[in-house]
Amino acid sequence: MPDAEPLDAWMARTVAAYYAVGDPFGVTGGFTTAPEISQMFGEIMGAWAADAWARTGSPPLFTLLECGPGRGTLMADVLRVGTHMPDFLDSARIVLLESSPELRTRQKETLKKYGTYWIESLNELPPLPVIVVANEFLDALPVRQHRLNNGHWEERVVHKGGLGWRTTRAGPPVQEGRDGTVWETSPARESFVTQLAYHIARYGGAAIFVDYGYAGPLPGDTLQAVKAHKHVGPLTPGADVTAHVDFTPLAKVARAAGLAVRGPVPQGAFLLRCGAAQRARVLGQEAELRRLTAPDQMGALFKVITMERALSAQG
Ligand code: SAH
Repeated sequence: MPDAEPLDAWMARTVAAYYAVGDPFGVTGGFTTAPEISQMFGEIMGAWAADAWARTGSPPLFTLLECGPGRGTLMADVLRVGTHMPDFLDSARIVLLESSPELRTRQKETLKKYGTYWIESLNELPPLPVIVVANEFLDALPVRQHRLNNGHWEERVVHKGGLGWRTTRAGPPVQEGRDGTVWETSPARESFVTQLAYHIARYGGAAIFVDYGYAGPLPGDTLQAVKAHKHVGPLTPGADVTAHVDFTPLAKVARAAGLAVRGPVPQGAFLLRCGAAQRARVLGQEAELRRLTAPDQMGALFKVITMERALSAQG
């Protein structure tokens, strides 16, 4: 490890190492995600995906992409919904963007009924329309932190002794800064969404991202580490390290690529508008519904953003 590593470089390494070993999800793992709480989450994503495909003009061949599929639970629920819409399912080439070989094995097992492909980078996307679903993927992409100290910008670094700051020439692209206020940026998330948005703008399609976060600009240090369902210090070995997603710059790059962006809207409002309460009644899952939608649970902190090629831009 270098003497002082920028926060984003450290985070990229740490996240990759975390997912490279074992299964981090569920009761025995570090944390529980929405698709692991209830199938209704993935079913609603599936209904959204099928509808997005229809709005894209029902292309007879398209990529159904999930970014960061974890155990493959969300995609399994999406595809089960798809069996009720055979045209959608028959047209889909199922692609999973996953960097962890361990999790690829796990996904292969969960999705063994279906033909699936794996990619490591958006560069590998075929030249086809793409419908994208992603839950808790963007929060795993690295952030940078900046602050003003006596009129000089500093950048967060990680060194042997822990977290520190070092002077940089330029600050983040914010309007004003007060001494000590921390601003986060994520060039990694912006370049990921930019690349995807240009693919959608060119070949057609849509994307839905669900993650915890906010519509900035808002100052604050949101770096967090979770181990065995508890918040721990960010440098704790073996912890899952993430940071809240600022959706504003992501909406901005998607719009710049020509896409129509909706949201971010709170997850609770989104799921309820899509019929989650009715589905929960059928499944007998009132407690799970509460967990996914109540504002004091996952309903408010988690947000949903969608982007698609604007109708007027469709050829
Ligand atoms: N979507 C799943 C898992 C979320 S955890 C769920 O909701 O349960 C984050 C996922 O993103 C894991 O599958 C992890 O391996 C993957 N991931 C993290 N960083 C990645 C990167 N840079 N490229 C590809 N996949 C990544």
